[in-house]
Amino acid sequence: MPETFKAILVSRDEDKKQSVAVTEISEADLMEGDVTVAVEATTVNYKDGLAITGKAPVIRRFPLVPGIDFAGTVLESSNPEWKKGDKVILNGWGVGETHHGAYAERARVKGEWLVPLPEGMSPRDAMAVGTAGYTAMLCVMALERHGITPDRGPVVVTGAAGGVGSVAISILSRLGYHIIASTGRTEEESYLRDLGATEIISRDELSGPAKPLGKERWAGGVDAVGSHTLANVLSMTNYGGAVAACGLAQGMDLPASVAPFILRGVSLLGIDSVMAPRELRLEAWRRIATELDHAKLAALSTTIGFAGIIDAAHRIMDGTIRGRVVVEM
Ligand code: NDP
Repeated sequence: MPETFKAILVSRDEDKKQSVAVTEISEADLMEGDVTVAVEATTVNYKDGLAITGKAPVIRRFPLVPGIDFAGTVLESSNPEWKKGDKVILNGWGVGETHHGAYAERARVKGEWLVPLPEGMSPRDAMAVGTAGYTAMLCVMALERHGITPDRGPVVVTGAAGGVGSVAISILSRLGYHIIASTGRTEEESYLRDLGATEIISRDELSGPAKPLGKERWAGGVDAVGSHTLANVLSMTNYGGAVAACGLAQGMDLPASVAPFILRGVSLLGIDSVMAPRELRLEAWRRIATELDHAKLAALSTTIGFAGIIDAAHRIMDGTIRGRVVVEM
């Protein structure tokens, strides 16, 4: 009998109804790849919530092990870049969507998808950041490339108490920005201020239909919410400002006008973490390791075990998870 290990498997029946189960699989069940990794930590992102609950067609091959990111140690490699014992991180590349993902004790992936775990970070630290946090760093880097420095004015962060939002606030605060945090959870005000938010606004101010142009309020934005919220953020962005858009927690639509673009020269910066080129990933993880405050990372993350993944996936869909959830295997 081959050695087995625990995994979560999402299946689909003949009526295309999705179901999820905790099971045992073996290495023979893993998909193609040249590196096998012992998964030591993973996490539950919004996308994992969508995948496990079936609320959006994130999983496009069945049955599939979900989980879009992990950190762990190389067990076996035929890729010249990696050897047994190397500590690695994986984010995206279709893992947990079309390729067996993180919610199993082992993963087999392409070596080119992996990045080294930065010096000084544990697998747990890396997953406290996770895809949500690495995406937050991609947003900050995009704003910087656009010249949105702290002296240009405030930056608004939407979905502030969520994963992307919490990490974005921590990073922007360390870099000296004045941060306006938009949240539906005003009871989290002290949490958000401790992470570095300067002002807190209610998400209700941004969640209704947007005017073509509103009063100028911020030089930049990190938006994890989309829909009316992104439209409002754009309409209130200062002349020449920029908004990094990465999420769709309110919706995938964008009911906006072109007025901010053609009358204020505002830019909308699209952020994708899944297929982001390796150089950009390496730069994002280098900066996360050196610029993200460890105390803040601890404050914004909670830890669960493998058995808690499915419940956490439902809770992230309900919007009740604060910050980031780390799964220690
Ligand atoms: P979380 O669930 O942790 O955070 C989302 C936050 O959005 C919630 O905490 C809540 O913040 C706010 N929110 C939820 N529902 C609504 C709503 N109906 N209207 C307005 N605000 C709402 O998710 P993540 O941080 O993991 O991900 C955030 C978004 O970013 C997701 O849409 C995800 O798919 C996307 N994403 C995209 C990536 C990319 O590559 N482009 C990579 C990673 C994430 P609060 O309670 O403070 O209001």
